Amino acid sequence: MKDESARLVPNTLGVRCVAEQLRVARSEEDLAEQLTDADRRGLPVTLVGGGSNFVLRPRLPGLALLLRLRGMTFERLGRRTWRVTASAGETWHDLVRATLGRGIPGLENLALIPGTVGAAPVQNIGAYGRELGEVLETVTVFDRCRGAFRTLPANECGLRYRASRFRGGDDERFAIVRLTLLLGDAPLRCDYPDVRRELGRMGIAPAAADAVRVAEAVVRVRRRKLPDPGRIGNVGSFFKNPLVTPKQLDNIRARLDVDAYPAPDAPGHCKVPAARLIDAAGWKGVRQGAMQVWPRQPLVLVNRGGATGNDALALAAAIQGDVHGKYGVALELEPTVAGV
Ligand code: NAP
Repeated sequence: MKDESARLVPNTLGVRCVAEQLRVARSEEDLAEQLTDADRRGLPVTLVGGGSNFVLRPRLPGLALLLRLRGMTFERLGRRTWRVTASAGETWHDLVRATLGRGIPGLENLALIPGTVGAAPVQNIGAYGRELGEVLETVTVFDRCRGAFRTLPANECGLRYRASRFRGGDDERFAIVRLTLLLGDAPLRCDYPDVRRELGRMGIAPAAADAVRVAEAVVRVRRRKLPDPGRIGNVGSFFKNPLVTPKQLDNIRARLDVDAYPAPDAPGHCKVPAARLIDAAGWKGVRQGAMQVWPRQPLVLVNRGGATGNDALALAAAIQGDVHGKYGVALELEPTVAGV
């Protein structure tokens, strides 16, 4: 048992998962050595950043490698442009704060997104009308097929709505070690209703807002709507917002008044808020064993204490089945499921 406690995989859902082996990588060279060694031994590897986007079943075969690579640099390129470099193990929100603290705008809408810098390109994180892909310059990876580091320009990363080549396809092949971002010259974006309303509450007209104030509004909205994973286990949104065809939208709208938004990455589709469907199907606040649908944001499933990864997946499956039955929409899981 003592040995098992040293192999517990950290995760913000707060479920118990014991890895067959667990190690920490603290530098790029260390990571390369450990991956090469595991590959030579034919050991499956799970890379763990902040553990904020994982649903883990009780046992994880192979090696769990915790990424603790640290470092950020800020290089001024022009009057209003900067190149920011950040290592994969840095906490994403620390990077947002570090840029804004130096007067560098660009990441304000992405404040308080949980997880690490290395996880950010995997699902091309985005919020309130901004996404990582708009500011990403390069991603440096350790390529396990070639046994070497490579730097990929953003346009080779297959970035789409909450997706990239690092998730599905090449997720086994590449370990992300570092990103560079180009920041500074994009106009502020504060047109999302939540952000606009919050700025209003703060007494700031959108035209008078600056990046720091937009970040503050985003943080206030997120703190109000979302449970703090430090206190209540969760992985943020459990489901992606579905992309539906006009026919599917008509089918939903025959039963429910729902907003739909353009989906530039998916021609012939539009985006529908999953939270609205889950709420309308009656799941807000519902408890199933030790899991609960978060009452203030039904996209989030929380661990009320003692839940397992399988309990979380059982609640998710019940919601998926019900929403599909009522509205004909298949909700996809956003977090990665691992373990047995
Ligand atoms: P929300 O703000 O209630 O929005 C729900 C849905 O409506 C989203 O699909 C959003 O698109 C869309 N939407 C709202 N206003 C829009 C506008 N002016 N133009 C285009 N689309 C609009 O969503 P929420 O669940 O509370 O989440 C807040 C933000 O965090 C959202 O942007 C969401 O995407 C983001 N988020 C990101 C992740 C992630 O990166 N993995 C996880 C959770 C939430 P978008 O999704 O394109 O914004």
